[in-house]
Amino acid sequence: MRHIDRIFINGEFVTPHGTERFDLYNPATAQVFGQVRLADELDAERAISAAKAAFPAWARTTREARIAALKRMHAAVAARHDDLLEAIIEEYGAPASRSAWMASYPAEVIAQAIDALTAFEFTTEVGAATVQMVPLGVAGLITPWNSDAGFICGKLAASLAAGCSAVIKPSEMSAWQTQIITEALSEAGLPPGVFNIVTGRGETVGETISRHPDVAKISFTGSTATGKAILRNAAESFKRVTLELGGKSPTIVLEDADLSQAVPLAIQAGLMNSGQACVAGTRILVPRSRKAECEAALAQAMAAVKSGDPRDPATEVGPMVSEKQWRRVQGYIRKGTEEGARLLAGGEGRPEGTQNGWFVRPTLFTDVDNQMTIAREEIFGPVLSIIAYRDEAEAIAIANDTDYGLSALVLGGERARGVAQQIESGRVLVNTLAHEPKAPFGGFKHSGVGREMGAWGISAFMEPKTMIE
Ligand code: NAD
Repeated sequence: MRHIDRIFINGEFVTPHGTERFDLYNPATAQVFGQVRLADELDAERAISAAKAAFPAWARTTREARIAALKRMHAAVAARHDDLLEAIIEEYGAPASRSAWMASYPAEVIAQAIDALTAFEFTTEVGAATVQMVPLGVAGLITPWNSDAGFICGKLAASLAAGCSAVIKPSEMSAWQTQIITEALSEAGLPPGVFNIVTGRGETVGETISRHPDVAKISFTGSTATGKAILRNAAESFKRVTLELGGKSPTIVLEDADLSQAVPLAIQAGLMNSGQACVAGTRILVPRSRKAECEAALAQAMAAVKSGDPRDPATEVGPMVSEKQWRRVQGYIRKGTEEGARLLAGGEGRPEGTQNGWFVRPTLFTDVDNQMTIAREEIFGPVLSIIAYRDEAEAIAIANDTDYGLSALVLGGERARGVAQQIESGRVLVNTLAHEPKAPFGGFKHSGVGREMGAWGISAFMEPKTMIE
């Protein structure tokens, strides 16, 4: 059994005041492998007061000093790659290719923040005025379980680059990954209190951070429901808020798409991170004229997807993170059938050859109407829906008929770019799944507020201040 019983406040590993023990599971076996002792409201307050005390000095540091600190963080996090990889597989169940990316991304995202900080314009002359970008104060960084280390490092690097100090509340379900990252970051030698890490529940530590008058900014990644609660709680003290929330992203297969290229991209987009990705392309829009052909190609590709042991290199879809998540996904599959969608692959239950873990059969529905529950709600599992459209105008209307707007994929020939221009989404990919870390990331509509990454990500922790002399 692994016991995690320290949090990080004011430059030190300390025993939390909170006493609740929370079980940590290996989702591939459904066995408990460890326990984390959770922080409580008092721990959150201590962390906030340490960050408040550290803020003035950190806000005055030079660009060069911040870059040096970020470089030390980068080296320390990169050095823990192998430990992180093991924790990601054991605690989260990400399959080989995904876990390799997830283990190297935390260091990469710090390197990206260094590049953004190097080029950042802190001062701009506008007419008679000088506009200075100044840090907001203490930042509360609240992260989900589905890419724990990456979100912690990304948000922390951007906030420190801006000159903010930080209190981080990671998900209680990814405490081992958090511990490795905390150990690494503690070795980077930043001044005490500049960052603090308190693993605890959302209702206690998360609420305290999002209500506290000494916290100036919240940067949150997680579900839309929690994002709304945070926005309400933050309103009382006018916190600046960045929210990276859920999605129900469309993949539009155009009339002239080459299915030999489009189908693998559509499947990959939908099953990214075992379907537990905010950007997952879960609504696949196909032209009515090619419906049968698209159904056959997509069904064949889905049936070939291996869902099972994350340590098996052939596995593309690992287990769901928790039993709760497994049940939720099963519920959506049942609901899809009940509402009249037709199964082309997968279905309820576990894939053949798996036993105790929280494995799901990669599932593909067709004859899905965009008003059905499975087309409207974020499932967060490997469940994809084919929705047929009459013409391009209807494809665009269906793609945009959603509360969300985080990501979209358009697959096709010369008209693809024109279609992409009409999609209401923070990011639209055309015939590629490439990611550009220098570009802003975030959502339209209920997918969020604000942007992360690059100069946009640093500005989100700052306020413009106009000086006229
Ligand atoms: P969640 O909203 O349940 O939890 C996220 C974090 O918020 C956790 O640390 C949790 O403890 C905390 N929290 C819960 N209640 C809180 C409260 N009242 N006040 C403050 N904090 C609280 O989300 P999750 O299940 O951990 O993650 C999955 C969700 O995250 C999905 O909806 C997914 O789409 C979204 N997500 C979005 C992005 C993005 O960049 N847009 C990326 C990854 C995941």
